[in-house]
Amino acid sequence: RQSLPANFRNAIAQMSPAKNPHDLENVEYFFREKLRVWCRVGNGQWHLGKIQSTSVDDVCVLLSNTDEVVNVSMEEIFPANPDILEGVEDLIQLSYLNEPSVLYNLRVRYSQDLIYSKAGPVLIAVNPFKNVQIYGEEFLSMYQNKALDAPHVYAVADAAFDEMMREEKNQSIIISGESGAGKTETAKYAMQYLEALGGGSFGVGNEFLKTSCILEAFGNAKTLRNDNSSRFGKLMEIHFSAKGKICGAKLETFLLEKSRVIQLCNGERSYHIFYELCAGAPQILKERLKLKAATSEYNYLNQSKCLTIDRIDDAQKFHKLMEAFDIVQIPQEYQERAFSLLAAVLWLGNVSFKVIDNENYVEVVADEAVTNVAMLMGCNSKELMVVLSTCKLQAGRDCIAKRLTLQQATEMRDSLAKTIYASLFNWLVEQINISLEVGNSRTGRSISILDIYGFESFKNNSFEQFCINYANERLQQHFNRHLFKLEQEEYEGDGIDWTKVEFKDNQECLNLIEKKPIGLVSLLDEESNFPKATDTTFANKLNHHLRANSCFKGGRGQGFRVCHYAGEVLYDTNGFLEKNRDPLHVDLIQLLSSSKCQLLNLFSTKMQHKSKSATISDSMNQSVITKFKGQLFKLMNKLEDTTPHFIRCIKPNSKQLPGLYDENHVLQQLRCCGVLEIVRISRSGYPTRLTHQELAVRYGFILLATKFSQDPLNTSTAILKQYNLPPEMYQVGYRKIYLRTGLIGVLEERKKYV
Ligand code: ATP
Ligand code: MG
Repeated sequence: RQSLPANFRNAIAQMSPAKNPHDLENVEYFFREKLRVWCRVGNGQWHLGKIQSTSVDDVCVLLSNTDEVVNVSMEEIFPANPDILEGVEDLIQLSYLNEPSVLYNLRVRYSQDLIYSKAGPVLIAVNPFKNVQIYGEEFLSMYQNKALDAPHVYAVADAAFDEMMREEKNQSIIISGESGAGKTETAKYAMQYLEALGGGSFGVGNEFLKTSCILEAFGNAKTLRNDNSSRFGKLMEIHFSAKGKICGAKLETFLLEKSRVIQLCNGERSYHIFYELCAGAPQILKERLKLKAATSEYNYLNQSKCLTIDRIDDAQKFHKLMEAFDIVQIPQEYQERAFSLLAAVLWLGNVSFKVIDNENYVEVVADEAVTNVAMLMGCNSKELMVVLSTCKLQAGRDCIAKRLTLQQATEMRDSLAKTIYASLFNWLVEQINISLEVGNSRTGRSISILDIYGFESFKNNSFEQFCINYANERLQQHFNRHLFKLEQEEYEGDGIDWTKVEFKDNQECLNLIEKKPIGLVSLLDEESNFPKATDTTFANKLNHHLRANSCFKGGRGQGFRVCHYAGEVLYDTNGFLEKNRDPLHVDLIQLLSSSKCQLLNLFSTKMQHKSKSATISDSMNQSVITKFKGQLFKLMNKLEDTTPHFIRCIKPNSKQLPGLYDENHVLQQLRCCGVLEIVRISRSGYPTRLTHQELAVRYGFILLATKFSQDPLNTSTAILKQYNLPPEMYQVGYRKIYLRTGLIGVLEERKKYV
């Protein structure tokens, strides 16, 4: 008799006792009964087949689709589910839970445009990359009326709403997934649902979608992975009245990728708004902004050889944006000021320098670029030229101007462009918030929707990827905590038998990043504060101090590797210190405050706080990473106070094409977000819990008075005995009774007949 291969043994271990078919013994059984198995030949795709014969190490399988007979090693073969379980809505329903079965189930559904599935409490959304007819009025009302309960983002929003109303507890919808997986679209559908449900007195409808349009114009860009990639994270907190009507909302954004304004990878674009403005501005506005006809004339835009996006009409987008501006009630004059600043940024990229001596010192070339920038910024052009090419130094009582080198001047110019753009973005967020203002901000009735950049691992990973992946580690821990830890701890704390489901805890990686005084963040700040430090000394420092952490792998030269929950990432420290310091020259701030443009004055006032303090350890002048960390902590605190609803978006292929399901790509994402573990834990768990007292109150009447014991535990055991329930369907803890899915229904039913 063949011994049980591990894959099959796991299959049994994963069955909940209620479902455990005692006849599934081993491979022999599958062989005898001619049941289908999944097998993988080489390292390729999974195939369905039937076992022909078995030997000690491998199994001979007849493949169903090609009639080919192949030899497969024991590790590459898994039990397949019966036909009746093909394309189930919830992966929990699968009898055999293994990677090929989960992949296949999602594939079957995807091919029928059923893009949503459940993995226990988590919604899985596979990006269709085409319009699927499952949204809009008809579907909104079906979910509202509970006429439909198929997995859907609407159903998640509906559940969050119901729970909020019922329990008066804040809710959150946490959407994650890699770039292009569909987070932002999903977030918009969730908002659409809540707006339909709780609309009414608030605004004119579609308010959120209009604000999304503004945010996307200024914060999204075409990247190699997504034509409409969000380059910032966002949390939309929607508040409801006691009657369940929306009474306001608050938007919070995280870490906009500023560097995109001045530097682009090949094939990527800068923020949509620049192209939309050039394509869509009416002639009169173009003249006022001195806008060139073609985007290719701007150095900040033309460096990546990508100026348009297939099937996207930038001019039309611009008109949509103008409508949205009006709805958010940004006054006409401010809209124009904002456009002037955008044009100023574009022109800044064309400002050039000429070297005037052999020390490489420069002066600004006095051409139309610099004149236009000055005009658009409302500054004196002479002053602008001085600021861009010199730096004021304090020498005793005197202030002397020192010329900048070509590199320094270019950095100064780029820094001005980034600053203006980022300030403009933040200002817009403030304007949106004013228009969405929360009337009655009592907590307990809000739903927050989080759409934050997914885990990133590229060939070249820099400071930005580090911040993004750090945020993802935090979110992953939140996810783990809720789904695994809390669950297990409760069982264990209550002394019930619970076969541990292993899950990847990422505390070690968070320690690596956050631990004081020697975590990545502290070391980065320390080096950033040290004038002589370079990216290489920083890398050396990391290698020296962090070796003891198992998530840290050194690297060569300026590199270092971190083992994140979703995989190992090689970072290049090049630029880390500078990006973390994000210095803003005092001269630039002065220039802004001297401007005739009220927006720039406003921006400069905010910056003045920052520049006053000399070192970044000062709280007024935090480094980028420390500020980000603070923001993340605040976010996590807020989320901890909510009941979370998780949505995992999956990108079925990297070509952004419909109908293409790349198994390896999907599998990698499923592994990253622990879908199998979620299903396992949900299935082997006991979703219904009652304290012994609660059980006695609800179902205790069945007992004769004499059977009531002083000890609540004994009482509830007696009650359950009386109901004659199968023992594998419940567990008795110190404090609570744990019931399997469906058992509460059985109890209720029997109650009627007692
Ligand atoms: P990033 O992290 O880069 O911001 P993302 O996860 O937010 O990526 P989205 O911008 O939401 O990804 O989605 C990428 C594209 O996929 C969309 O522009 C759209 O074309 C398509 N898409 C996503 N979800 C859906 C959907 N439910 N129906 C139709 N198309 C979709
Ligand atoms: Mg997005």
